[in-house]
Amino acid sequence: MEECIAAVATPIAQSGICVIRLSGEGAIEIASKVFVPVKNQSLLEMEGYRAAYGHIVDGDEVIDDGVALVFRAPNSYTGEDVVEVSCHGGLAIIERSLELFYRSGARPAQAGEFTKRAFLNDKMTLTQAEAVMDVINAQSFLSLKAANAAKRGALYRKINEICEDITKIDGHIQAWLDYPDEDLDLVDSDDVKKNLYKVKDDLENLLSNYKLGNLIKNGVKTVIVGRPNVGKSTIMNFLSGEEKSIVTNISGTTRDIVENVITIDGLMFVLFDTAGIRLAEDVVEKIGVERAKAKIKEADLILFVIDGSEKISKDEFEVLKYCEHVPKICVLNKVDLGLVENSINFDQFDCVVETSSKNPQTMESLKQNMISLTQLNSLDSDAPLLFNERQKLAVQKALDELKNAISAIESGFTWDAVVISIDAAIDSLLELTGENLSEHIVNEVFSKFCVGK
Ligand code: GDP
Repeated sequence: MEECIAAVATPIAQSGICVIRLSGEGAIEIASKVFVPVKNQSLLEMEGYRAAYGHIVDGDEVIDDGVALVFRAPNSYTGEDVVEVSCHGGLAIIERSLELFYRSGARPAQAGEFTKRAFLNDKMTLTQAEAVMDVINAQSFLSLKAANAAKRGALYRKINEICEDITKIDGHIQAWLDYPDEDLDLVDSDDVKKNLYKVKDDLENLLSNYKLGNLIKNGVKTVIVGRPNVGKSTIMNFLSGEEKSIVTNISGTTRDIVENVITIDGLMFVLFDTAGIRLAEDVVEKIGVERAKAKIKEADLILFVIDGSEKISKDEFEVLKYCEHVPKICVLNKVDLGLVENSINFDQFDCVVETSSKNPQTMESLKQNMISLTQLNSLDSDAPLLFNERQKLAVQKALDELKNAISAIESGFTWDAVVISIDAAIDSLLELTGENLSEHIVNEVFSKFCVGK
């Protein structure tokens, strides 16, 4: 067991309850010096999974009352002895209690150190540890579901399965190379290629889902674009169900970008209401227009709002050019004022939705179209998904090595050369699951956690 660490596991802010966690060598002994149960038994005598009500004390002085939970190794989150003390969430209590635990022998935990220990003690794989953070950070039902699937090991199992497939191929070639005199089946290059192609497909599928995983995790960046006064802020407010953007009938009132996070059917959308793009004369508005253009570049989805009761302006055609690369919905707004004939080519949009602030039903239909355009409703969120850049890079590297192996076979290279690439692909996948990792990468992964996790 490693030295005892302690940290607040809940946010350091005034709250009803705060949890201080200790883990490592002597955790129960250190906690017992600070936490005294009201019934005679000391924490030291308690079995694992037991709780005791008592006091946090500094000598004779009682700091607070609360509950201590004892976990005994290996049956705890970290696999070490752990004590979790729940006390009142007052800043003075938190500060004083932590100081007492430190004075009694614990040291402050570093970011992610509890989960890092859980990983090092084989309580979870690296992808599961990363998923712990994704579970905490999840802001929508779908991202929670996907993070939970990863926490249960969906990605780990998939990578493991792929690894086993490659190892089988590798093993066969290696055996044949190492024991040429044994009566082993000849390595059939068509056979090997066929198996490598299957693995290649699996890896490519994972990579193609990376973008979807990211949309689920970070939300669909949705930029509301259009000329001033067409109803962008009104639409933003309808979607958000609150007065976030200022709605006026003076052109160009949303001068900066207003951001709002909403969920539709459990999927998160990050909405940006931009300044109406047009050739602005006023300097403040000009800055807003530049920012809007920058936002369009990052967008996953664009709601291109047009006032359906008016002719489309030259500016609008101009702005559409910036939106070429992104999936977009044409929102024909103000249909209650009657639709005028327009020369715009609606085929350049992924869909057209007619809306009116006078008819909330039309806004519902906009929401449903936003969901279907992301194609995320068809995605199985229990499926293995790559959730971060580290995981994606590892799969990409494995895929590149597999492609090298395939082209080595096709170019008639020796099996030794093929095996080098196959081994490199396996190494990369083992790095992903955390079975073949340098200390540097482990530290890098856990440094992204917060203290107390
Ligand atoms: P923005 O500049 O594009 O953000 O436009 P706003 O949302 O500020 O709306 C401009 C004006 O149009 C306001 O007076 C709104 O009340 C009005 N408006 C917005 N949507 C509709 C609609 O669907 N029908 C009608 N009749 N008026 C609307």
